Amino acid sequence: MDLLVRHAKEMGIPLSPRQVEAFHTYRRELLEWNKKFNLTAITQEEQIEVRHFLDSLTCLVAMREVCGPPGRERRAGERLRLLDVGSGAGFPGVPLKIVCPRWRVVLLEATGKKVRFLEHLRDVLGLADLEILHGRAEDLAKDPAHREQYDWVVARAVAEMPALAELTLPFARLGGKVIAMKGETAEAEVAQSGRAFTVLGGELVKIVKIALPGLVEERRLVVVRKAACTPDAYPRRPGIPAKRPLK
Ligand code: SAH
Repeated sequence: MDLLVRHAKEMGIPLSPRQVEAFHTYRRELLEWNKKFNLTAITQEEQIEVRHFLDSLTCLVAMREVCGPPGRERRAGERLRLLDVGSGAGFPGVPLKIVCPRWRVVLLEATGKKVRFLEHLRDVLGLADLEILHGRAEDLAKDPAHREQYDWVVARAVAEMPALAELTLPFARLGGKVIAMKGETAEAEVAQSGRAFTVLGGELVKIVKIALPGLVEERRLVVVRKAACTPDAYPRRPGIPAKRPLK
């Protein structure tokens, strides 16, 4: 885990020996399950460290740039709530939970076999209070236990920004924020999202640019603030946000 440890430290995220051990276990289980199910196309050990683990942790850099040290805006004793929409094999939600164990992290995933992997991972990593939900964002966002409840909603590789806004913004509390993890298409996707942001109550805060070691393509994290409540009509029925994006 040298690459992860060194570059996380450079990002201001020192990892404890226990956390490094957890990332070892995560990689081992990911590669093991990947023999049976297609969980990731990235199978080189160092690539997993950079493209999955380190990339997930860039959310912490974006949070710090926007709000100062993560969690600072919460009152003492209150735990920060974070939702990962379309978590897949756990990115970025599980690395964030490993590094920030006190946060209430919830993973939402629509595919059953990925949910089973996430549950297995939770057990082997001993992350007892990691919540894993099997379902679609369009449905869960109607549930008052989850709608407008989260300080941070994060997503990577789930949909283009206009559709992704509809799958994420309904979950953010007023003043809460969405982080859409993007590559070099970030600006173009944001340019297409003006109507979606307006309709759903979002407001672009900033696009945080981060270089990952050894990768040519720069990572871009689109941070959107929930400035107004999302109207009850959104999100629309499952599949509609992607089929007929608000543009
Ligand atoms: N975030 C992970 C997985 C990306 S693949 C990563 O970056 O590695 C996209 C994942 O989102 C898939 O696992 C898919 O099942 C899930 N997904 C897509 N649309 C969804 C929706 N509307 N609700 C919940 N999960 C969804």
